Amino acid sequence: VKWIYDFNEGRSKDKALLGGKGANLAEMTHLGLPVPSGFTLTTESCMRYLKNVAFFDQQLITEIQTAIERLEVKTNKSFTNDDELLLVSVRSGAVFSMPGMMDTILNLGLNDSRVHALAEQTSLAFAYDCYRRLLQMFGDVVYGIPKEKFNLLLTKAEKENNKTVNVFNEQQQLALIKNYKELFIKHNKVFPQHPMDQLKEAIQAVFHSWNNPRANVYRELHGISHHLGTAVNVQEMVFGNSGNESGTGVVFTRNPATGDNQLFGEFLLDAQGEDVVAGIRTPQPIQELSERLPNVYQDFLHYAQMLELHYKDMQDIEFTVEQGKLFILQTRNGKRTAKAALKIATDLVNENVLSKEEALMRVEAEMIDQLIHPIFKPEALEQATPFAQGLPASPRAATGEIVFTAEKAKERYEQGNKVILVRHETSPEDIEGMIVSEAIVTSRGGMTSHAAVVARGMGTCCVTGTETLTIDEEAKTVTTNDIRLKEGDILSVNGNTGEIYLGELPTVIAENNQDLTLFLSWADELADLEVRANAETLTDLTTALDFGATGIGLARTEHMFFGEDRILEMRRLILAEDHREMETALTKLLAFQENDFYQMFQTIRDKPMVIRLLDPPMHEFLPHEAPDIANLADKLNRSVNELTAKIEYLKETNPMLGHRGCRLGITTPEIYQMQVKAIIQSAIRLVQEGIPVVPEIMIPLIAEKEELMHLKVLLIETIEATFNAQNIVPFSYEIGTMIELPRACLIADQLAEQADFFSFGTNDLTQMTYGFSRDDIGKFINRYQEKAIMTHDPFQHLDQQGVGQLIKLAVSNARRTKPTMTIGICGEVGGDPQSIPFFQAIGIDYVSCSPYRIPAARLAVAQAAI
Ligand code: PEP
Ligand code: MG
Repeated sequence: VKWIYDFNEGRSKDKALLGGKGANLAEMTHLGLPVPSGFTLTTESCMRYLKNVAFFDQQLITEIQTAIERLEVKTNKSFTNDDELLLVSVRSGAVFSMPGMMDTILNLGLNDSRVHALAEQTSLAFAYDCYRRLLQMFGDVVYGIPKEKFNLLLTKAEKENNKTVNVFNEQQQLALIKNYKELFIKHNKVFPQHPMDQLKEAIQAVFHSWNNPRANVYRELHGISHHLGTAVNVQEMVFGNSGNESGTGVVFTRNPATGDNQLFGEFLLDAQGEDVVAGIRTPQPIQELSERLPNVYQDFLHYAQMLELHYKDMQDIEFTVEQGKLFILQTRNGKRTAKAALKIATDLVNENVLSKEEALMRVEAEMIDQLIHPIFKPEALEQATPFAQGLPASPRAATGEIVFTAEKAKERYEQGNKVILVRHETSPEDIEGMIVSEAIVTSRGGMTSHAAVVARGMGTCCVTGTETLTIDEEAKTVTTNDIRLKEGDILSVNGNTGEIYLGELPTVIAENNQDLTLFLSWADELADLEVRANAETLTDLTTALDFGATGIGLARTEHMFFGEDRILEMRRLILAEDHREMETALTKLLAFQENDFYQMFQTIRDKPMVIRLLDPPMHEFLPHEAPDIANLADKLNRSVNELTAKIEYLKETNPMLGHRGCRLGITTPEIYQMQVKAIIQSAIRLVQEGIPVVPEIMIPLIAEKEELMHLKVLLIETIEATFNAQNIVPFSYEIGTMIELPRACLIADQLAEQADFFSFGTNDLTQMTYGFSRDDIGKFINRYQEKAIMTHDPFQHLDQQGVGQLIKLAVSNARRTKPTMTIGICGEVGGDPQSIPFFQAIGIDYVSCSPYRIPAARLAVAQAAI
C-alpha cells in the first residue's frame, strides 16, 4: 500500500484517499497553477495509525523520510542543513471540509540554529516572527498549551523592552524565544529541535485531532462518518510575512452571502494565513489588492476564473504572495448561504456552465428552508432602536437574550431560552454554543472569520466585525455608544444587513424570492413525485398553495373542533345523555363543518384534497381540571359529579392504542355520517358554482378489512342520501384509507380491493412498528444517539430497514391488486429530503408535508428523480 502521494501524483477524484484539500492541491498542480510543492499522507494512513500507533514507526516513517527527500530535490532546499532552508506547513485535510475543526502548523523545520540562518538570509524580525509562530502553533496543536499564554509572554516582553517585537534586537528576540521554550517546560514538554522530530509529532497530532471532541461534534451535526480519517498535507512554506510585497488572503470567486458574481474576500499584507482567519487584524477587501500589487491581482483574477470554470462552482481560494510572487495554497467549493447557493446555481445555468439538472443537484434541499424563514417586519425596523452595526456574515432575523460564553449559551438554551452569543471572536471550542444560538455576534473578524464560516454553514444568523462593541466577559456586559447591556438583555440581530437592535422585533416571512421560484419550476419539470400539503386552516392552505403544493394530502378534521364555539358542541355530543342532545350538537357541528369544507374547497378549487375523518380519542376533547369541568357542567346544564364520572370513564390508559380513528367511526357512526354529509353538501355547492371538486374521504387507523368494508357501507349510504335529499345527480368521490398500522401493511392487498387510495401515516406506523411513543421518544432518543444505538430519530427520517420495508411490501401488494391506485405519504417524513429518495424508489405517487416544508420537498423530489 502506498501511504503518501506527492501533489503531482493525485487528482481531484482521489478525494476519499487524499482528503478534500490534498485532492484539490493535486488537481491544481496538475492544472499547472503555482502551488508550492508537497505531499499528502492518505486518510487510510490516519485510520491505520489510530488503530495501531506502532504503524507509524514501523512503516510510515520511512515513507515520510523519502517523501521529504523528494521534496528537497524538487525545491532545491534542505530540511536539515542550515543553507537553503526548507520549511513546511502541516495541515489536516479531511474528505469533507470541517472548518476550524482540525489543526495547522506553519514554519515547521525551524529551530534555534536554523532561525539564525533564516535571519541572515532574510531579516531578524521575519525569522523570529516565523519561529515564534511555530513554537506557538506547535505548543497549541501538539501539546495543548493555550495560545494565549504565548501571547501574554509577547505582550510582556514588548512592555518590558518598551518597543514592538518587530524592532527587537537579537538578544531581546532570543530572550523571548527562551521564555516560549520555558513555557513548554512548565507544561512538562520540550520543544523538539530536530526538524524530522517536529514533523513526526505534528503529523501524529493531526491524526489524533480527527478524534478531538470538537471534530466529533461537527461530524455528528453534519452527519459525517467517524471512520473516514483525515489526510495530512505537508507543503513547502511560502512566506506571506516577508515584507510589504508579501501577503495572504482568502477569496471567494462569488459573494458567499448573496451569490453576486464578484470576487469577495480579504487580504492582509505582510501576514501569514491564520492572521486572516483568526480575525486578529482586520483585513482589506480584495479589490484593494489591485492598487497595492496590480500584477499579483491580475494573476489572481486569472487563476480564480480558471478554477471556477474547472470546478464549475464558486471557489473559496487561499493564496499567499511571497515577495511579489503569487502562490495558490488551497481551493475548495465555497460554503455559502442558501440565498447565494440558489443565485450561483441559477447564474451558472444562465452562463451555460451547468445544466439545469446539475444546478438542481448543487443546492441542498434542507438549505431551502433558510430562504423562507423570517425577516424583521419592515415597519418594526423603522421604529427600532439601533444598537450596533457589523458585517452581514450570515442572513436571517433572530432575537434572543445575550450570553457571552458557549457554555452559558448551552445552559440557557437547555432551559428553553433563545440566545444570542456575543463574543470578541469565536473559535472551534465554541461550536456547541454556536449550534444552539439564534445568532452569533462578534466584535472582531471579517466575513471569512471562523464565526462567519461556521454560521453560514449552519444557516444561523451571524454578524461579525462589530467593532464598536466593547465586550467585558468578566463583568458580562457589552457596551456601545453609551448603551451598556448585560447578560440576559434582549437583542434583535439582522444577519441580512449586519444591524443589531435593542429588544425584540416582530418578524415576517421574506417576500417570494424570484430565484427560488425559477429554480423550483425547474425542479417541478423533472420531478416524478408530487408534493402535497398537510393543512386544514385557510391560512395554511393558502401558504401551501403559495409554496407550490399540488394539492392537500391530509386535512386533519379534528383540528376544526377546537374553536371555542365548536368545542362546546363537540363536548355536548360526546357527553350526550340522549339522542335529542346528540342531534342538537350534530346539527350545529354539521353547519360548522359544511362551512369549513366549503371554504377549503373554494381555496383549493380543482386541486385534490384528502379529508380525513375524525381520528383522536374522545378524551382529548374533554376538560380534565375541576374548574373547567364545573364550567362545562354549567354550560351543559348537567351535574358536576355526573360529568366528572363520565369524563373519568372516557379516560384511556393508552390513548394512542385506544378508542380512536375508525374505531370511533364504528361505535359512534353519527360523527362520521355528519362529517361526510358536510363534505358532500359543501362539494355540491361548489359544483353548482361551476367548480368541479372530487371529494376524497379518508378513514384513519384501519387494521382490518372488515372495518373498512363496514365504514364504506355507512359512508356510501350517507353520501347517496345526501345527493338524493337535494335531488342531485351524484358526481364522483373517493373513499380511501390511511395505512398506519403494521397489520394494515401486511394485508394491503385486501385493503386495496376496498380502498380508492392509500396514504401512509408514517407517524403512527413508526410508533406502532417500533413501539416508540411519538410523544415520549424525546426522553430517550438523545441517549440512543449518544450511545450509537440509533443514528437518527425515526420520526424525523424514515426508518428504511423496518418501517420502510413494511411500506414497500404494502405498496407492491396493493399495486398487484389495483395497479393504478394513488398512494401517498402524509406522515412527517413525507417532507424529509433524506427520506424522499426511498419513496421515489418504491413507487409512491406523492408526499404530503406541512406547508413550510414544501419548497425543500419540491427540490428533494426532483433530486430523487435525477
Ligand atoms: C400519521 O400517523 O402519520 C398521520 C399523518 O396522522 P397523525 O399524525 O394525525 O396521527
Ligand atoms: Mg396517524
